[in-house]
Amino acid sequence: MLIGYIPISKLTGISSEAARTRAVANLFHTCMRTALGPIGPSGETGVDMMSGDGVWRRCHPILAIFVGDYPEQALVTCTYGGRCSKCEVGPDELGEYQSFPLWMQSKVLDTYRLADGDVHMFHQACREAGMKPIYRPFWEKLPLTDIFRSITPDILHQLLQGMVKHLVSWLIHIFGAAAINARCRALPPNHKILLFMKGITTLSYISGHEHKKISIILLGLIVDQPVPGGLDSSRVVRATRALLDFAFLAQYKSHTSESISKMQDHLIEFHENKAIFFDLGVRTQFNLPKLHSLSHYKSSISLFGTADNYNTEQSERLHIDLTKDAYRATNHKEEYSQMTTWLERREKVQYFSAFVDWRQQRGHDLRPPTRIAIGPPRAYTLTVKMTQKPSKKKVTFDSLANDFGALAFQDALAEFIAQLNYPGASRGALRNHAHNTHIPFSGVPVYHKIKFTARGDLKDTEIMDSVQVRPEQKDSRGRIIPARFDTVVVQGDKGNSHFVKQLNVLLTDNYSGRRIAQVRVVFQIPNNKIDQVFPSPDTRPPLYLAYVEWFTPIPARPDPKHRMYKVSRSIQNGQRNAAIIPVESIVCSVHLLPRFGPARPQEWNTFTVLEECHSFYINPFTDMYSYLTFG
Ligand SMILES: [Zn+2]
Repeated sequence: MLIGYIPISKLTGISSEAARTRAVANLFHTCMRTALGPIGPSGETGVDMMSGDGVWRRCHPILAIFVGDYPEQALVTCTYGGRCSKCEVGPDELGEYQSFPLWMQSKVLDTYRLADGDVHMFHQACREAGMKPIYRPFWEKLPLTDIFRSITPDILHQLLQGMVKHLVSWLIHIFGAAAINARCRALPPNHKILLFMKGITTLSYISGHEHKKISIILLGLIVDQPVPGGLDSSRVVRATRALLDFAFLAQYKSHTSESISKMQDHLIEFHENKAIFFDLGVRTQFNLPKLHSLSHYKSSISLFGTADNYNTEQSERLHIDLTKDAYRATNHKEEYSQMTTWLERREKVQYFSAFVDWRQQRGHDLRPPTRIAIGPPRAYTLTVKMTQKPSKKKVTFDSLANDFGALAFQDALAEFIAQLNYPGASRGALRNHAHNTHIPFSGVPVYHKIKFTARGDLKDTEIMDSVQVRPEQKDSRGRIIPARFDTVVVQGDKGNSHFVKQLNVLLTDNYSGRRIAQVRVVFQIPNNKIDQVFPSPDTRPPLYLAYVEWFTPIPARPDPKHRMYKVSRSIQNGQRNAAIIPVESIVCSVHLLPRFGPARPQEWNTFTVLEECHSFYINPFTDMYSYLTFG
């Protein structure tokens, strides 16, 4: 909630630069003291407040967290730029993996108490303490506040726009813009990734959101690339993987002690491998406050909860809503009172509208909403959502082979029908039954998309994932839209149809029955033929079926260097190994990173790479499911 605006005057009337900087900082602290002063006594004696569930409680408001970027953190803690706002690390030790004692608030306050005495002695004492000479920092009298502890991780500026941005520039320096951009143009599409079709080195400005999207594909852009000078690439790959892991874990929405210590392990791993950036001449030192800040994530998350609780992305968003938009709503004269009135009205409207939503959703049930249990990090359970009508009412078997590439569709369908009609039959017997199965139709209704919604705490309508399965098309202006057949994770024991047992036989691998497949057709058995194909009324096929091409079983262990799992096209008798499975056994889409090898074939591109490349790595960074399963 907005409680006040702070002026950002540059105080240009003061001619001495040092005096001006001090005055600006003092002005800031005076404003903050005015704004937060009232919570001082209430923090000690308590004040009655009603919480969202309507219960009155005695509350002790305290300043717990300050959310801000690095210059703001330094301003608040009175520390110098180039130093840490939390600990006493020296200005040339920021690149070390080592812990340093936190600034001690009581000791610092002893220094600031000298402010009313001799000014030279005060400045001298501040210099010795490593603190800026501020007249009475605003947190001086706030009860139970430790300003140095209250400084929290800042994912946006320290990681996404900080270390990830640095890492990207180092890797571009090592591998060259051309090689990195060429790989960007040859990654297969997926619901959860952003394609940088012009590469990532040509962008003039990269937002935090884009850096988040780059960190999903970054490992795929460098893995197996040769390092100049014939040096071994494994340390670059290890350092990259470690920093990406750290960034992914730091953004978890819930943590356990285990996930926090894993995060720390990855930070150590980065430090152990970072010297390669010296060896390759990319860096001469690592004195980066942003790198050092990562060493405080573990304790901050343990103290204050997950990092999304204090992400500056949110406060920057509020700055737009509460300041810029509010200012625009005024006539630009005497703007403050207009802005606050405008905001107050908007807040009231928002509260009322939230109340109306809540009433309408819950009908007459006025019990407070039940809390969602916070547990160990987990992925959303997704539910398949199909459109009511098929995209095409009938596509012939010929067209499925020619346009969809489903070359063995009829054989796979015969096999599927035999499996359903003769449950428990041996493989040999099934082959005979399939051979004798007559298919009494020449085409099927097909769907071009499988959508997934989240089950549980999110609104049911939000599309969390989707799988596109369509041949080349033309848009209304005659332009070609390339074909797209997405890759998915299939799980043997998912879904509740009795077909699951047979499917488990197909998924003969040792990876909890999971397997990667490319979906070529999503279809239904024509309604009016079901009785003919399945004579027993007890045997009903699943509503939606998919013709998929399998990849090789997921190996038990990932590659030791980059920790990704390798899969290749599964080939049998020179043909791609294909089968028909129920759509409900598809868990989610999966992004595959092509194994480009040292020399990338020039003709591969986003739309052809799944066909032309034979072997891939499973991308672990697309979402929680992939990270927890393949991470
Ligand atoms: Zn520090």
